[in-house]
Amino acid sequence: MNSSTLIAIERTAWWLHIIGILAFMNYLPYSKHLHIILAFPNAYYANLEPMGEMENMADIQREVLMAMEPESAAAAAPLPEGQEPAAPAPFGAKDIFDLNWKNLMDAYSCTECGRCTAACPASSTGKALSPRLIMMKTRDRVEEVGKNIQKNKAFEPDGKSLLYDYITVEELNACTTCNACVQECPVSISPLDIILQMRRFLVMEESKAPAEWNSMFQNIENNFAPWQFSPDDRDKWMAEA
Ligand code: SF4
Ligand code: SF4
Repeated sequence: MNSSTLIAIERTAWWLHIIGILAFMNYLPYSKHLHIILAFPNAYYANLEPMGEMENMADIQREVLMAMEPESAAAAAPLPEGQEPAAPAPFGAKDIFDLNWKNLMDAYSCTECGRCTAACPASSTGKALSPRLIMMKTRDRVEEVGKNIQKNKAFEPDGKSLLYDYITVEELNACTTCNACVQECPVSISPLDIILQMRRFLVMEESKAPAEWNSMFQNIENNFAPWQFSPDDRDKWMAEA
């Protein structure tokens, strides 16, 4: 080809490329590809605490210590100065309004790569749970609420919630809290944080724990251990046969 043809091809390809990129940049915030941008702040705000450490609930800790070890309750879970004990806030999360901003940013940062689900022991043993789907369902619910707000200027209750309408009790109860999904995620997402908050709502607000968990809770309350043995019998294993 002669030089002028080559220059024409090069200019055409250059402009097509630039226009394509600019068009995609405008489409990006409305598409699932938003994760390309959100991956950076999401990784920046990742939880750097040890992975197995679950967020404590100071109200509950104070109540339990008042019953079991009143002398250490004030030191372990102090009330803010001058504040009287108040009715605790609702526990856990039922809908996206109860989740924190990081949980919602997690949902929009998910690349849907599926590494979390591939590593999830619940998923690989045929349970209903997929941590990838937990993130996608959370994002779907945020989208639905967003459209509701756009249409009505403020959120109009739609009789739906993330728990039950999107994420089922069976999915939540299948989680072993092993943290494999958190470990595997390339953009520092924690599907487990959402699962734990929703499970807290189920157990503490709706008393909907599986029967075998309830007997464990009772044992912890009465025997300070998950088993049905009196704490006074703990040292019996040392006795001579
Ligand atoms: S923490 Fe729960 S959801 Fe995550 S990998 Fe383990 S079992 Fe699966
Ligand atoms: S590993 Fe992370 S980015 Fe990939 S699907 Fe799971 S939550 Fe989404």
